Amino acid sequence: MRLLRPASQVDSIYAVDPGALGARGIRGVILDLDNTIVPWGHWHAAPELPVWIAAARDAGLRLCIVSNNAGPRVRHLAGVLGLPVVAGALKPRRAALRRALRLLGTTPLTTALIGDQLFTDILGGNRLGLHTILVRPQSGRDFPLTRLVRLAERLLLRPRP
Ligand SMILES: [Mg+2]
Repeated sequence: MRLLRPASQVDSIYAVDPGALGARGIRGVILDLDNTIVPWGHWHAAPELPVWIAAARDAGLRLCIVSNNAGPRVRHLAGVLGLPVVAGALKPRRAALRRALRLLGTTPLTTALIGDQLFTDILGGNRLGLHTILVRPQSGRDFPLTRLVRLAERLLLRPRP
């Protein structure tokens, strides 16, 4: 169960302060794609996203997208945003996350992961010892199977008495 607990939980990526991450020794950030930095299935990023990315870079953070999706949309978005990407990641498996660490030149201790799903992003990140940050999904739309997973997530995230 501990592996399913994010280190922190915020409304959106825009609530993540890059300066605060830098201050706690974080040097690299792994970003989930769908419903974390863009709404599910979208080809375009919101105008705020490049602003956040620029702020993260100013804070000395390196960024890398790690998505379980593959295909032209993932490459397109990574290209437009100017970020390296590991696609077809099979999170919560750790291989793709380790590859991202190599791209970032960071270690688990100096890397954060921002994602919207407990059973892929947070579980994978925690298994590797990353600083995991859970965001609320950007849209109500999801891969159909993910909707079932959401139900389980809501149960797990219920406040404990
Ligand atoms: Mg996602």
